[in-house]
Amino acid sequence: MLIVKRETAVYAMSPENEPVARVRSGDTLTFETADCFGGQIVQETDRMGTLDWSRINPATGPVFVEGAEAGDTLKVEILRIDLAEQAAMVEAPGEGITGLNAQEESTKILPVKDGRIIFSERISLPVSPMIGVIGTAPADETVATGTPSFHGGNMDCRRIGAGSTLYLPVNVPGALLAMGDLHAVMGDGEVCVCGAEIAGEVTVRVSVVKGQPLPLPFLVTQEHAMAIYSAEGLDAAAEGTTLRMRAFLIDQVGLAPHEAGMLLSLTGDLRICQAVDPNKTCRMEVPMNVIGDCGYRFP
Ligand code: CA
Ligand code: CA
Repeated sequence: MLIVKRETAVYAMSPENEPVARVRSGDTLTFETADCFGGQIVQETDRMGTLDWSRINPATGPVFVEGAEAGDTLKVEILRIDLAEQAAMVEAPGEGITGLNAQEESTKILPVKDGRIIFSERISLPVSPMIGVIGTAPADETVATGTPSFHGGNMDCRRIGAGSTLYLPVNVPGALLAMGDLHAVMGDGEVCVCGAEIAGEVTVRVSVVKGQPLPLPFLVTQEHAMAIYSAEGLDAAAEGTTLRMRAFLIDQVGLAPHEAGMLLSLTGDLRICQAVDPNKTCRMEVPMNVIGDCGYRFP
């Protein structure tokens, strides 16, 4: 099985990026990923202010998927996420929401033991591994890996974990898939600007779906289907994801427009993925049983 090394990182998703590997539709491969700090924070005396910012938010790749053409969908089944032995996080004045009131820079190293991160003597938390940055190349622009948009990118959606399937747009030949920025744990909102940032390995199966039958990016788990939408403000992100799910329920699932809106209001959970990146990201979660009851099957 192909292993894409973490040394192949890019710092922007771009149609200009040279692919570092090629796979066929249906192949399984592993991405080794660095943490969002580029491995620069390894002890609690390391501070955000001393980082080399040119090494922030590396994404491993990109990988060329044969047969993927502009206008197609790349289906990425996330089979497995393996985490390194410790995570790191920071809080700093001016960063995220909590940074509005933070007085000084702080760093925490979070060892991973027996499936939990050790936060303090009293507090440990079960790991819930997720991928912060995952995307394809945009059609005709270069987007920093720290920014989420229609190509995916830094969506920081904690539902993008093992067992989920993410659908991304193919904008250029081969799609150019790249990913990084794993979190061992993160809450919705990512309010202090980071999760439990950690290196690791992500094993995925990639498949080309012809055309774009879903509003993209789109995520499916065992429990929920969700559109993921990033925009400059939270209001716009909330409206974007809601209206995309409404369109999906009408155009693909086959509901009448008024029923789609009503069902979203009854069963859909509108959630914030992150409120701290250059664009903000929201998702509308609809229970799979509602979609299944209508007889819809995902591609
Ligand atoms: Ca992130
Ligand atoms: Ca992160």
